[in-house]
Amino acid sequence: MLNWGSGANNPKFKRRRQRLVDTLADKGIKDKRVLEAFNVVPRHVFVDTALQDRAYKDTALPIGKEQTISQPYTVARQTELLEVKPGEKVLEIGTGSGYQAAILCELGAEVYTVERHDELYKKSRSILRELGYSVRAKLGDGTMGWSAYAPYDAIVVTAGAPVVPEDLVDQLALNGRLVVPVGDDKRQEMVRIIKIREDEFEEEHYSDFKFVPLIGKKGWQK
Ligand code: SAH
Repeated sequence: MLNWGSGANNPKFKRRRQRLVDTLADKGIKDKRVLEAFNVVPRHVFVDTALQDRAYKDTALPIGKEQTISQPYTVARQTELLEVKPGEKVLEIGTGSGYQAAILCELGAEVYTVERHDELYKKSRSILRELGYSVRAKLGDGTMGWSAYAPYDAIVVTAGAPVVPEDLVDQLALNGRLVVPVGDDKRQEMVRIIKIREDEFEEEHYSDFKFVPLIGKKGWQK
């Protein structure tokens, strides 16, 4: 059984969630659907009981295996850049806690997600299932994407890559968006690539973020 902190709808957490949404709006998140998703998903359920009291602060938190649940602002910004519409197919690389996947489900996406740590893969799957979110999850190296279900309308990488992983670009549908942090181990720029025509892409850059490393064949080598 999950520890819900006496229920995902615990009024204490509900109030904190609303305040977090206000903070995100103050920091420049404009997309109402994204803000509404943050108002619904119980972030405290995705972290350890000992950290639940900090779940609605705008900070990253440890989730084990030296990984983190990303800062809410970062998740919101990446999600906003993805411009997900209901029914779209979305691939996430780096399931981690499963929180970002839940946000994508709330936006009505059909979610595919890949995680390289077995423990996180299993834990996130069970939390998502208990909360009633249905996602297709895979254990493995996501730097080559997930070709079996390609193409995707949107792809989000939630770990920092040394370069844009080209297999992910190849797995974009027409009008598809890839949002990936690219940089060194200290900071990364958010890159958005949009497939505007067959073999034609638009590339945009957004200011600095800090992610855990994307480790894999087409990412950082261990
Ligand atoms: N989206 C997550 C953020 C987790 S941090 C959340 O909402 O909690 C990034 C995650 O990417 C970590 O769990 C890390 O193990 C994973 N990761 C790093 N390299 C990866 C790779 N090549 N393939 C799949 N997952 C990877």
